[in-house]
Amino acid sequence: ERAREILESGARRGSNRLGVEAMELLDAYGIPTPQGDVVSSPVEAEAIAEEIGDDVVMKIVSPDILHKSDIGGVEVGVPVEEVRDTYEDLVVRARNYQEDATILGVQVQEMVDLDNGVETILGMNRDPQFGPLLLFGLGGIFVEVLEDNTVSVAPVSENEAKGMLDDIDSAPLLRGARGRDPVDEATLVETIQRLSQLVTDFPAIVELDINPLVATPDGVQAVDLRLTLD
Ligand code: ADP
Ligand code: MG
Repeated sequence: ERAREILESGARRGSNRLGVEAMELLDAYGIPTPQGDVVSSPVEAEAIAEEIGDDVVMKIVSPDILHKSDIGGVEVGVPVEEVRDTYEDLVVRARNYQEDATILGVQVQEMVDLDNGVETILGMNRDPQFGPLLLFGLGGIFVEVLEDNTVSVAPVSENEAKGMLDDIDSAPLLRGARGRDPVDEATLVETIQRLSQLVTDFPAIVELDINPLVATPDGVQAVDLRLTLD
């Protein structure tokens, strides 16, 4: 029900495009997201950072900005004392990019340990003929360069979700290549199934991307979200 409310609030805004402001949708389906919130003032941003109690990541939240880092809309490793200034900087950069951009606010998010994790992508594209196509692959900056991914029609069984991990060329990377600890595969498989359930429950979602979904030895964290409603 919470999930429905989140999607409706997007629709009410008159935008069919939702971003990190809709991350609670993932929480509602048990897909872990880093601690944090979207706020609309520098002071509130500072309060969230204090709550997190460490350096944070800050991101501009706007339906008009699809690739936040392309416009300088993501700042990683921001100390609490710089949070207020960074808020203003992010808004200025967004305005420079598009003067009339709708700015919903700024997300203040806990840092995720990328050194011990693998950035993957988990997404969905609704095909008029085949239905919801789940995509899993290597994410982050490698997504376009390596194009290492696999597709499966939702809903997927546990075995089909496992098969998606096996399918990608980078599977050894998830399983502890080069002396790394293997990622928590069971949670990754569960996460694929949870997304499968979400997109099955909400036919209005025509497209969805979690990029990156950071997989670590301790579990997964959905760090970014973008979705389109019909
Ligand atoms: P966008 O894809 O719109 O540019 P993201 O939220 O995916 O924005 O952030 C861009 C990149 O910044 C990510 O791929 C990741 O490498 C890094 N990043 C984002 N959020 C975090 C976080 N919470 N902890 C660590 N790194 C992050
Ligand atoms: Mg991203």
